Amino acid sequence: MVRRHAEIVGAGFAGLTAACALAQRGWSVRVHERADRLRTTGAGIYIYENGMRVLEAVGAYAAATHGAPFAHTREVRDDQNRAVSVHRWQGSRVFSIVRQTVINALAESATLSGAEIVLNSEAVSVTPDGELTLANGQTIKADLVVAADGANSKLRDGLELVATRKYLVDGCTRLLIDKTPEEIDEQQDGATTIEYWSGSRRVLYTPCSETEVYIALVMLDSDEAAKEIPVNREVWKSWFPHLVPLIGRIRAAGRYDRFEYIKLKRWSAGKVAVIGDAANAMPPNIGQGGGCAMMNALSLAVYLDRDPDTAAALATWEQNERAITDHTQRISLMLGWPATWPSAIRTKALALAGRSNWLVRQRTRTALHVPTGT
Ligand SMILES: Cc1cc2nc3c(=O)[nH]c(=O)nc-3n(C[C@H](O)[C@H](O)[C@H](O)COP(=O)(O)OP(=O)(O)OC[C@H]3O[C@@H](n4cnc5c(N)ncnc54)[C@H](O)[C@@H]3O)c2cc1C
Repeated sequence: MVRRHAEIVGAGFAGLTAACALAQRGWSVRVHERADRLRTTGAGIYIYENGMRVLEAVGAYAAATHGAPFAHTREVRDDQNRAVSVHRWQGSRVFSIVRQTVINALAESATLSGAEIVLNSEAVSVTPDGELTLANGQTIKADLVVAADGANSKLRDGLELVATRKYLVDGCTRLLIDKTPEEIDEQQDGATTIEYWSGSRRVLYTPCSETEVYIALVMLDSDEAAKEIPVNREVWKSWFPHLVPLIGRIRAAGRYDRFEYIKLKRWSAGKVAVIGDAANAMPPNIGQGGGCAMMNALSLAVYLDRDPDTAAALATWEQNERAITDHTQRISLMLGWPATWPSAIRTKALALAGRSNWLVRQRTRTALHVPTGT
């Protein structure tokens, strides 16, 4: 059989995982990244059991998790710094990791598997019959084009695949801070991550490497003081008096992103597949946007391996795989609702959410899902 060729646009979690999985199944693969180097924004990331399985399947697990703590316990604390819910991950893995470490691990595995990664290469459009046009005017024909170009995907928009795209009421500033010597010692036992609430604002504390802590400051998008860049440490200290020393350690300016929600009419058009945030951006309330991106990138390669007819394989892929992503998006949206509730109601709801077996099952379903191809 003639070797099939894939052009992938975007070298994020989605595009690089697809590059590994396709190259490992015999495809010739080229990845186009418009940036001048492989980098990712957003400081840290949680990757749960489902994502761990994908990283293992594509040969990036050891490098991706090197030095990252097992985030075994997650606490939610109310305005008075009282723990209102504690969840322990037993029998399944969850790591909090510096994002760049995961991107580097995926890129290394993709390259070792034979994929070519081209930097400073921006794609502008694609046709359903697999003709990709680059910003430099070049056009390339492929058996498969993967649009993994993120939430603002130009390729997806050109194919008119969007059913729903909306900005949500909240957003988040992310950054890394250095660990204290005490925090470095604590890492031996893994990590407890803590979500502190104060009114509609949250501070998420997550040790994520041997030397760094990932801090996410979550707020309503209308909250101008809270989303100021560089982070206005004095106002955050006034909202979280019990976290004054922690907030005082912030040095980096941080990066603010508003949460988004995207749903497509279809995940493909002819020979073009859309994956990752381009297909299904979601708020990060259960930390699974990257997890879904990697699962769908791997399963895409599995279905294409089973059926040489690209369009037919893409249709079966979506039919069989979309339900878990749709569920993840629904739950992620739902868990964002408390941000706009009065504190007393929110505290009760968060406590209930921690105790309700049904809600815990809904929240952990994606993490415990066994991805196709693993
Ligand atoms: C605050 C926040 C916290 C989050 N926390 C988590 C978490 O803990 N766990 C989790 O799993 N997920 C989390 N997510 C979601 C996760 O970050 C995304 O789902 C994931 O990054 C999507 O990866 P992607 O590869 O689809 O897109 P991206 O990471 O956006 O990558 C797209 C790539 O395509 C490139 N590109 C774009 N356009 C072009 C073009 N025309 N030509 C060539 N290249 C192009 C870009 O430069 C970029 O490198 C979080 C998101 C946010 C906003």
